[in-house]
Amino acid sequence: MNEIIYLDNAATTPVKEEVLQEMLPWFAQFYGNPSSHYSIGYETKDAIDKARAQVAAALNCQPSEVYFTGCGTESDNWAIKGSALRLAPKGKKHLITSAIEHHAVLHAMRSLEQQGFEVTYLPVDSKGFVSPEDLKAAIRPDTALVSIMMANNEIGTIEPIAKLGAVCREKGVCFHTDAVQAAGAIPIDVQAMNIDMLSLSAHKFNGPKGCGVLYIRKGIAPLNLLDGGGQEGRRRAGTENVAGIVGLGKALELAVSSLEQKAAHQKALRDYVVQRILKNIPEARLNGDADKRLPGNASISFPGLEGETILLDLDMHGICASTGSACNSDSLDPSHVLLAIGLPHEIAHGTMRFSFGPQNTQEEAEFLCETLEQIIPNRRAMSPIWNSRKA
Ligand SMILES: *Cc1c(COP(=O)(O)O)cnc(C)c1O
Repeated sequence: MNEIIYLDNAATTPVKEEVLQEMLPWFAQFYGNPSSHYSIGYETKDAIDKARAQVAAALNCQPSEVYFTGCGTESDNWAIKGSALRLAPKGKKHLITSAIEHHAVLHAMRSLEQQGFEVTYLPVDSKGFVSPEDLKAAIRPDTALVSIMMANNEIGTIEPIAKLGAVCREKGVCFHTDAVQAAGAIPIDVQAMNIDMLSLSAHKFNGPKGCGVLYIRKGIAPLNLLDGGGQEGRRRAGTENVAGIVGLGKALELAVSSLEQKAAHQKALRDYVVQRILKNIPEARLNGDADKRLPGNASISFPGLEGETILLDLDMHGICASTGSACNSDSLDPSHVLLAIGLPHEIAHGTMRFSFGPQNTQEEAEFLCETLEQIIPNRRAMSPIWNSRKA
């Protein structure tokens, strides 16, 4: 097998052919500025409105509550910094998040701490769940915002969002969720889940990179991060990424309409790999919850080894995966998520994430298992950590 086997769909996904075809006319053929008042401007404005309606249908909200952004990171920053800056003059300078958020959330919180805000980082249990009770106890009269992710990008755990949202509703605190991993993978309903703001990003569900959404419930008003022209209801200035927005709308519509088949396919591949690896490789362990996890996510620790070593060996066999510390690739610290679920440093270091997409096949899953069954024992035989454990 010489082809690349791409098992890192949590990092990004290939653009679906149908999505690409839908996007192509919006670069050179229909190029008008959506803010211009002549026919070729109206065409692009209509295309954006169509995508806005597609997103609204997928989330169960109004099109006027959908705001296009430059990426998931921007959406997270807007929700968090925008809410903090809006409510600080009212004396609300406290925010709540979890210990296992993506860096787009955690580093936005860090930045606010440096500006005098106070942040509570809720712990998670050994499966990665945030407790609604803990959240309830952490909310204070000066809490401006709660931000808890819908599904974790490393270990796949799906948080009890409807319950966490209900706690916020009851306490009258605004609730944001980073749904970048969840969108297009599991059902989302912002009404039923009590969500006030939600981030998503097209490139995680077979859409293009560089295009995200922030859903903002009517009546909620985070401060603008980008001021300028009157785009996006005067809340997010900048000439729209028309082709990207068209691609996002189409990709989300396709992902949501095929959600169940897609999930069943990914889950079948994932369960095959998890069961076979846990059976055939001594001491391999699955991180996260067995059931309440993203259909395509397998986070597996291989004690005695460094994830980096496994990653390089897999790459030599044409397999793309990720270590548990993908976002820390320039640091030697193990992932904050794996430490938060209580893994010792040594095991956190030997953790790999395999994330399956709709394009992956059973043959690829089998090849991954065969390769791991070969490289893990070989590397362990040379590993002083493993040998000292066994001594
Ligand atoms: C990928 C990701 C982001 C960042 O989205 P970008 O569009 O790449 O900026 C944020 N949160 C989570 C959970 C992610 O997986």
